[in-house]
Amino acid sequence: MQYRSTVQPARGLVLDVAGSRRFVGGVPSIISRCRYSVNSSHTDSSRLPQPLPPHAPASEDATAVPADGRCRVAIIGAGPAGLATAASLAQRGIDSVLFESSHHAGQGWRHHYQRLHLHTARALSGLPGMAIPRESGRWVAAQDFAAYLERYAEHHRCRIALQTPVVGLRRQPHGWELRTSRGCWQAAQVVVATGLNRCPHVPAWPGREFYRGELLHSSRYRTAEPFWGRDVLVVGTGNSGAEIACDLAAGGASRVSLSVRTGPNVLPRSILGLPTQVLGLLFASMPTRLMDPMVRVTQWLTVGDLRRFGMPPPPRGLFSQVLRDRAAPIIDVGLVEQLKRRRVEVVAAVDSFDAEAVRLADGKRIRPEVVVAATGYRPGLEPLLGHLVALDDDGLPRLSRSCEALDAPGLYFPGYVVSLGGVLHEIARQSRRVAASIAAAPDRTLTPTTTSTTKETT
Ligand SMILES: Cc1cc2nc3c(=O)[nH]c(=O)nc-3n(C[C@H](O)[C@H](O)[C@H](O)COP(=O)(O)OP(=O)(O)OC[C@H]3O[C@@H](n4cnc5c(N)ncnc54)[C@H](O)[C@@H]3O)c2cc1C
Repeated sequence: MQYRSTVQPARGLVLDVAGSRRFVGGVPSIISRCRYSVNSSHTDSSRLPQPLPPHAPASEDATAVPADGRCRVAIIGAGPAGLATAASLAQRGIDSVLFESSHHAGQGWRHHYQRLHLHTARALSGLPGMAIPRESGRWVAAQDFAAYLERYAEHHRCRIALQTPVVGLRRQPHGWELRTSRGCWQAAQVVVATGLNRCPHVPAWPGREFYRGELLHSSRYRTAEPFWGRDVLVVGTGNSGAEIACDLAAGGASRVSLSVRTGPNVLPRSILGLPTQVLGLLFASMPTRLMDPMVRVTQWLTVGDLRRFGMPPPPRGLFSQVLRDRAAPIIDVGLVEQLKRRRVEVVAAVDSFDAEAVRLADGKRIRPEVVVAATGYRPGLEPLLGHLVALDDDGLPRLSRSCEALDAPGLYFPGYVVSLGGVLHEIARQSRRVAASIAAAPDRTLTPTTTSTTKETT
């Protein structure tokens, strides 16, 4: 499929997608910015649309990071939330600079386990101003999503300072000063988009340091291959734990145990052909006390009673767990089948380790060769922001509807949410709200910097 951008002064940018015309944006100032050429080196690019070269060559430094160390909006992190916010700001004619600690936009999506596909539907997971191409299918592979993010950044001509982690942030009279690995920057507003999953988390289990078996966090798991013929314990029943357990069972591990502390809410990816995410969006505003029992009946009709496989029942209904505990449900892509086939065995929560074994909460002592800790992530905002905003027990600031920190105006946090409609869908919505709020804020003129400013672009 090919597509071409044309500028229609009265209307904005029109994309010509395989002959059918789609209107994308109407703010004249973004029109020139949206001319693009794509030259991605990413692996799965053959499955993605190949845009034609732009009609006129874009100015060569359109995506270069400004050299004076100042910008109206600084965005920390070029994952989906950072990119979506940059694009939403551009649609309002507001320039931004993204600071990304790694080598690529959307880096996280290049390194997830191989079999990962979005469990949210393609049509509801795209970011503002550019849909995920149809060729990626209904359930988009992680590598295709990574390629999409790279193209998205190019399409919106995002200015990204790669390999430039932000290591310090402080308030200034007219905005903020960011300390990066390459010098200091001044910005009127700052968007923090470092994500909910910045820091892999492994609980401080007693005796962990003496354990002589292999222990790795799920973020380091790629395929089942290295675990062929081995006895593996997967700890944690989030989506990663459930899917990695399946992958191991299907991929030749000799034995797969799944350690469960809190019974998960499980739903299939689609119900009667409709993505479960759609139902989440449709019923999101319904009262929890009504929805929890309704979902329980749906679970019973679709995945059945998992107690017969040793799975403890969830302590709360699905809506309560998502909205109150910020815990996403398991979207089943094979766990139920592997439980039924007895290829995955449920065991109790991990209590402690010793040199040879793992002790479980029910008193059993098991001796897996490998432990995969699918025990989640932490946002890890403390080092950068702990002195600026109060963080709750989950390490998150209190935010307004436009994602602005209540106790630090001018600091925005899109993407720090677990939602019934999927995080990516919520990121798309929040990025627009952040852009609207920044557009409504006075365009503060930055004072000349007093710190030495190094100017390095990537
Ligand atoms: C395995 C997995 C599967 C998921 N599947 C889905 C799904 O199917 N559907 C869905 O809706 N959601 C899903 N999510 C949740 C969510 O959509 C993703 O985590 C998404 O990538 C979040 O985007 P983000 O931009 O907030 O954070 P990230 O994607 O984590 O991006 C943050 C970026 O900030 C950079 N960064 C961090 N610190 C700094 C710093 N100090 N300076 C500069 N840069 C920094 C990082 O390098 C990174 O590139 C999934 C999450 C995981 C972990």
